[in-house]
Amino acid sequence: MTRPSGVSPPDNVTALSSADADANSRGMNQVLDAIRTVVGPRGWIDEASDMESYGGEERGLYRGSCLAVVRPADTAEVAQVLRLCDEAGLAVYPQGGNTGLVGGAVPQGGIVLSTERLSRLRAVDALNHTLTVESGMILADVQRAAEEAGAYFPLSLGAEGSCRIGGNLSTNAGGINVLRYGNARDLVLGLEVVLADGRIWDGLRGLRKDNSGYDLKHLFVGAEGTLGVITAATLKLFPHPVQRETAMAALGSVEAVLDLFKEARDALGGLLTAFELIPRRGLEFAQFHIPGVADPFPTHYPWYVLFEAASPRPGDDLRGTLETILEAAFETGTVADAVLADSLGRRQALWRIRETIPEAQKPEGGSIKHDVAVPISRVAEFMHRATAAVEAAIPGVRVCPFGHVGDGNIHFNLSQPVGADTDAFLARWHEMNRIVHDIAVSLDGTFSAEHGIGLLKKDDLAHYRSPVELELMRSLKRTLDPRNIMNPGKLLDV
Ligand code: FAD
Repeated sequence: MTRPSGVSPPDNVTALSSADADANSRGMNQVLDAIRTVVGPRGWIDEASDMESYGGEERGLYRGSCLAVVRPADTAEVAQVLRLCDEAGLAVYPQGGNTGLVGGAVPQGGIVLSTERLSRLRAVDALNHTLTVESGMILADVQRAAEEAGAYFPLSLGAEGSCRIGGNLSTNAGGINVLRYGNARDLVLGLEVVLADGRIWDGLRGLRKDNSGYDLKHLFVGAEGTLGVITAATLKLFPHPVQRETAMAALGSVEAVLDLFKEARDALGGLLTAFELIPRRGLEFAQFHIPGVADPFPTHYPWYVLFEAASPRPGDDLRGTLETILEAAFETGTVADAVLADSLGRRQALWRIRETIPEAQKPEGGSIKHDVAVPISRVAEFMHRATAAVEAAIPGVRVCPFGHVGDGNIHFNLSQPVGADTDAFLARWHEMNRIVHDIAVSLDGTFSAEHGIGLLKKDDLAHYRSPVELELMRSLKRTLDPRNIMNPGKLLDV
């Protein structure tokens, strides 16, 4: 295996005789015509050049193709399209902003069902603190709609200007505010979903308490489009923070990072919203390759933490609390140096270091990525063991672990040794994955913390999950999508 393999033909395509193939293609053309009639010219794309961007994905690991891109304008159109596809056994690949990092939205034949036109704000309930939006609304627009309603929607991640809320829910996205507000799953109260056979499940209940049978919405959150199409969601809102303080601390060890986390969490409680790890190597990559990024400190340190506290109460002394935490940490030697952002520009400059690390890794050559999580109490052990193991396997490999350490989630990325052959390095992708994932799993962790499974981690799911767990997942898939038309070939084989 070199790098993760390209896309393979859809599972539901089998070899046909030429007569069968003619009849089949006539039949398929009729189905496509019927779908085109449902969505109209604005909802239909079949020119190869116009479909190009729907076939690729963020990291360039996979490229797929489809017969057409279908852009329904409302839930009823989604339902009609799915009914037609189900009857014909035509594969449907749901796609939001196509920013996912595991190849989950890449088509392998069939049609792409894009949610681009499902972008309406359906309802605001200020007292209930909820927003009901269609699934194709861009995350940044959801945040803005919440703000216009005098509230706050906390899901925030690097792709928020282009990812769509249906994609966020379908991948159970995490991001930078999980510490305080949880994952996408924790932010949804109700869903509207079109099932594979075209039935519409209206579960748009804005209830914070509802113990009436199985909680179906959680089946579709994180299902990566394999069980149905999310068409709308009722989302939880929160009071808008009126103050926010951001600090960056420099530290000598991962143990010190975790000590600081404990102090910050205990002192700030629910006001601690982000706690992000940056390694010296990540800061250097960003400094060398990203214009405008500067080292905030005069001396080099092995580790940095970017942490943030926010409060909806004007009277909270956030800055004072952060200063107290840092002063105490200086005294114990936990923190070697620290800066507190004194302006919005300074805050943005600090976040820019953290957010540009993946981009800054690109000019450094091949990069093998991991998205693991372990309990916070095992983070240090994970970092030491995983670093030693990959360095032993590939001498000179440049480990660049960063990310949401406050959630126990580390993007344990490996940059190729300086001067190494990129293809030869990337050829060891799966070998490195196995080393790192084995260590994470042995520490009661996971091989996929927030990006999902898609195509990239299908083998890992099959390897690490128990037969009972896999069979439960398969039975759910067979029940909800008996003809296997929903994103076939992704997540798990049925
Ligand atoms: P897509 O990529 O279009 O789709 C993702 C999956 O969901 C696919 O399997 C697709 O079939 C399915 N899907 C999409 N819409 C629907 C729907 N309406 N119904 C059913 N299935 C659907 N992720 C994190 O968790 N945390 C981060 O901090 C983070 N940072 C990122 C930063 C950058 C710069 C980038 C590029 C990505 C980042 N991601 C992060 C990845 C993240 O998962 C995606 O950005 C986002 O959540 C996916 O939304 P999307 O609309 O682009 O979905």
